[in-house]
Amino acid sequence: MSFDTLGLSQPLLRALNEQGYTSPTPIQAEAIPLVLAGRDLRAGAQTGTGKTAAFALPLLERLYPNGQRANDAPRKVRALVLTPTRELAVQVHDSVRAYGKHIRFASAAIFGGVGMGGQIQALRRGMDVLVATPGRLIDHLDSRHVSLSGVEILVLDEADRMLDMGFLPALKKILGMLPKARQNLMFSATYADDIKKLANDMLKDPAEVQI
Ligand code: AMP
Repeated sequence: MSFDTLGLSQPLLRALNEQGYTSPTPIQAEAIPLVLAGRDLRAGAQTGTGKTAAFALPLLERLYPNGQRANDAPRKVRALVLTPTRELAVQVHDSVRAYGKHIRFASAAIFGGVGMGGQIQALRRGMDVLVATPGRLIDHLDSRHVSLSGVEILVLDEADRMLDMGFLPALKKILGMLPKARQNLMFSATYADDIKKLANDMLKDPAEVQI
């Protein structure tokens, strides 16, 4: 199987080719068409399965059809990706940049353990895609450095680890600041009762993908 049949346009296919990806992994083959169709998604996937591209590629295609960014689009956060750790935030952001290398758009990663200053500057400049850890995002929201009123797509990556790390209150607060009409994608290696409840509260008629 090749990436060509999944509904992604040339700018993304070129980037995948340059990355040396020849065929989609199982989760990519299943998830990409569902996300492109606008569905909410509940995915069970471990790291190493290619889950990052499974959400990052259709997210970029939906925000930038055929790789085009509307000229008059204001720079506000249109896609928010939440990760449990700084390392994962950096890694996901690097992947988004790599897959989106032929699209003109702005993105940033914000996470704890470093100063606020550089992140405040980046948030002031504005971006379409924001990758963040929940605690530091709350700090920026409380200080009104960023607005989430334009978010169209929310991704929770490694949702089980976020709950293990005690981020449920932060997640609930963030969810309360998002527009109700949006697409939600949840990725988790496990679905214990607390994650199932979060999924039930957050996802609308989700497609389910289990790898
Ligand atoms: P992830 O599970 O998202 O952390 O991805 C695991 C690794 O697989 C990363 O190094 C990706 O760059 C790589 N990868 C993801 N999708 C593909 C693919 N379709 N073909 C080859 N490598 C891939």
